[in-house]
Amino acid sequence: MLKRYLLAPGPTPVPAQALLAMAEPIIHHRTPQFSEIFASAAAGSRKLFGTDGPVMMLASTGTGGMEAAITNTMSAGDRVLVVNGGKFGERWAEIAETYGLVVSTIDVEWGTAVDPAAVAASLDEHPDTRAVLVQASETSTTVLHPVPQLAALTRDRECLLIVDGITSVGVADMPMDATGIDVLVTGSQKAMMLPPGLALISLSAKAWRFSDQAKLPRYYFDLRKERKSLEDDTSAYTPAVSLIVGLNAVYRVIENSGGFPELYARHKRLAEATRAGVVAMGLKLLAPDSPSPATTGVWLPESVDGGKFTKHMRDVMGVTVAGGQGHLKGKIIRLAHIGYADTFDVIIGLSAVEMALAEFGHDVEFGKGPAAAQKILAEQYSRNA
Ligand SMILES: *Cc1c(COP(=O)(O)O)cnc(C)c1O
Repeated sequence: MLKRYLLAPGPTPVPAQALLAMAEPIIHHRTPQFSEIFASAAAGSRKLFGTDGPVMMLASTGTGGMEAAITNTMSAGDRVLVVNGGKFGERWAEIAETYGLVVSTIDVEWGTAVDPAAVAASLDEHPDTRAVLVQASETSTTVLHPVPQLAALTRDRECLLIVDGITSVGVADMPMDATGIDVLVTGSQKAMMLPPGLALISLSAKAWRFSDQAKLPRYYFDLRKERKSLEDDTSAYTPAVSLIVGLNAVYRVIENSGGFPELYARHKRLAEATRAGVVAMGLKLLAPDSPSPATTGVWLPESVDGGKFTKHMRDVMGVTVAGGQGHLKGKIIRLAHIGYADTFDVIIGLSAVEMALAEFGHDVEFGKGPAAAQKILAEQYSRNA
């Protein structure tokens, strides 16, 4: 028997409450019964995003939300600034180029966060920049970019801050309105603990103003239509009925386990414990200075072939972690602690890494990684807490 554990940064495990809710027979989407569910999911999403504005729920993966962010706010020939520090930063540039935008990039060394001063310098050099495109958490390099500092730069310019929050929304406390984010996007299969197929997106008042002038073509992803439909507790086209039902169930799970503050505290705790465990094993972190609370990148010893290592963990040990992308392929692993993850997922991940390292000929003292994590994680269970 091989029991499987999913410790990759998406898709992530789905809690039983959501699985059971989604197993209910499909109901028709143009009914008062579904509208009630839809309205409740929309309200939960506003809380999740930290916004008073509408959060549109689209039947697509997160990338569709990224595309919608651009087509709803920009016109061909507009200049945008892309923070390019990983695979998903590259994706922003590719989408922008596809739509004929003029792309300036700030190339950030993989594993490090963007320097806000470099963004400020680029905005000063190109005052016609209409948007800064960034990942809050660059999942491919396990880095957290300084979104609040970037918001301070765009706030008073005719320039939007467009944030891919696909592994930060529901992970780190970054309320959209208070932070000054103009467009925020996430997807269902990361922190929202659901199967893939749902994108959530919200626009600030400033971004809606840009949308009035934006000339890029859009049809399915026309957010003006979705905003209007949301006012009637429905969507412009057939919504992803099961996923919306599941999203509602997830909001109940969050509410019943301490709400959003505990959600963010848990991610922070699991990330800290994972990093402590990795360091205690004698391995190096990929992003020691600005680590993402969603997933932890770890350099493998040079003698270890990362491709074979992750395959061994997955197919022999039953533990799925992510490898590296681009030039990090084969050199790192990424241990996720996002969504439906808790203490013992961290312990499993760390001990599996130790066992796999030993199998690959690395000198390992068993238990050091999990022990370091346990020191951080045990406290929450104290009877005196
Ligand atoms: C997973 C991920 C995406 C891609 O989302 P899809 O749902 O696969 O389209 C984009 N950005 C980040 C930061 C991600 O982690």
